[in-house]
Amino acid sequence: MNINKLVVLGGGVLGSQIAYQSAYSGIPTVIYDISDDAVDAAKLRVATYPAQFQRDLNATDTALEEAASRLTYTSDIAKAGLNADVIIEAVPEQPAIKESVYDQLKPLITADTLLLTNSSTLLPSELIKYAPNPARFLAMHFANQIWIHNVAEIMWAEGTPTQAIDDAVDVAKQLQMIPIKIQKEVSGYVMNSIFLPMIYAALFLWADGNSDPHSIDKDWMVSMGVDRGPFGFLDLMGLRTAVNIAKGFYQQTNDERYQLVADKLQSEYVNHNKLGAETGEGFYTY
Ligand code: NAD
Repeated sequence: MNINKLVVLGGGVLGSQIAYQSAYSGIPTVIYDISDDAVDAAKLRVATYPAQFQRDLNATDTALEEAASRLTYTSDIAKAGLNADVIIEAVPEQPAIKESVYDQLKPLITADTLLLTNSSTLLPSELIKYAPNPARFLAMHFANQIWIHNVAEIMWAEGTPTQAIDDAVDVAKQLQMIPIKIQKEVSGYVMNSIFLPMIYAALFLWADGNSDPHSIDKDWMVSMGVDRGPFGFLDLMGLRTAVNIAKGFYQQTNDERYQLVADKLQSEYVNHNKLGAETGEGFYTY
């Protein structure tokens, strides 16, 4: 599909990356955020990307300058959303916020505007009732550091027209992503459906005293022939996030082991500001 205008709603951690990737890929891109302060914060995030694109992708100065020239910012949703070909929503993971933002899009979109949510945990079938045009609504889930971990997981509610799915795949390719279609909805898409059970299995082994983090990682790395184990990944993901996910799983499952893991991570790591790689210490030091 022809993308003359791609809008990203929410210029936070992921939204700012998606928008920069889009501009870098040659697409005129607008970041909308809720206030001027939030727009300024998005600009600060985006300012860190050129150096990372240079380091990781050998991006040239010209390509980076052109990317910057294609990216604009606004705190006015009417200006942002009007006649967009593609809108990627990356606002906080709260249904009420998503609903309110989708409502505001209603007078702005065309019949063809494709609305894609980057939601990690809310299924398209849960959000579609808020969508301004349900026939053009899907999930497209990106990974953190999208320029190197360039997979776009595409998921949709039952009954979504094939044309919308094909268009989403095309958008992913234009963003230089590898599209992965999820044929039937599943919480966690593909990656987190595999990754999170593995991570929490490792945490249970640790919390139950079966083994220690470095030994568990060593076993996994040598056995699987990979260079990072579950506790190495936990440090990258951030231990605060690991606590929040464990609490969520406890609420969903009533499995006490999640609460045990959440408490142990909180008291032994998070309370001592050992949050993982970002603070220089977690299960490893950096
Ligand atoms: P974030 O908190 O970093 O960013 C959210 C942004 O939305 C902020 O800039 C905020 O100002 C803005 N915002 C808040 N309310 C708004 C409103 N009413 N209208 C417009 N903008 C508003 O969050 P994030 O980590 O970037 O997550 C955003 C979405 O992406 C979530 O659905 C999350 O599940 C998903 N996601 C996150 C990650 C990740 O690693 N962080 C990975 C994949 C998907």
